[in-house]
Amino acid sequence: MMKHFPDRQTVERVRRTYPAGCRIVLDQMEDAQAPPVGTQGTVIGVDDIASIMPAWDNAGSLSVAYGEDRCHKIATEEEAKITLEWYGRHQSKENAKCPRCGKLMDGPTTRHALSRRASITICDEDGMKEALEDAGIMERFPLMQWAAITIPQNGGGAWKG
Ligand SMILES: [Zn+2]
Repeated sequence: MMKHFPDRQTVERVRRTYPAGCRIVLDQMEDAQAPPVGTQGTVIGVDDIASIMPAWDNAGSLSVAYGEDRCHKIATEEEAKITLEWYGRHQSKENAKCPRCGKLMDGPTTRHALSRRASITICDEDGMKEALEDAGIMERFPLMQWAAITIPQNGGGAWKG
């Protein structure tokens, strides 16, 4: 089948929309080896024909072909939670960055607070805030606004917490 190649503006638009490090969810892929719909991945880059090149979470690295396959950037609290669980499994053992506020967490990560929202460690201050949120004293801070979500989604590169 003859492929229709996207023009340069399209390639640039896809690159701006899906910066390296942003998190995506697979919606559709025509490939026998494709990961299941709903699989999340981290974008590595976008190639010259506007294919998005991800590292799927434990599911290989098949590209999302422009005009054929479909994906979207994580957008819901449920999708953000899946990303945070994934980060939690790869969190640095020492001097990690708090995924909620982005601040450095000195020393061993286990010495800090376990989030009530996902299996991931956060700074003590944020641990306190979550407790206050659950007590109804503070308004709940959406997962989509955590530093580990907003920085990669907006072109700040892959989260290294
Ligand atoms: Zn924090």
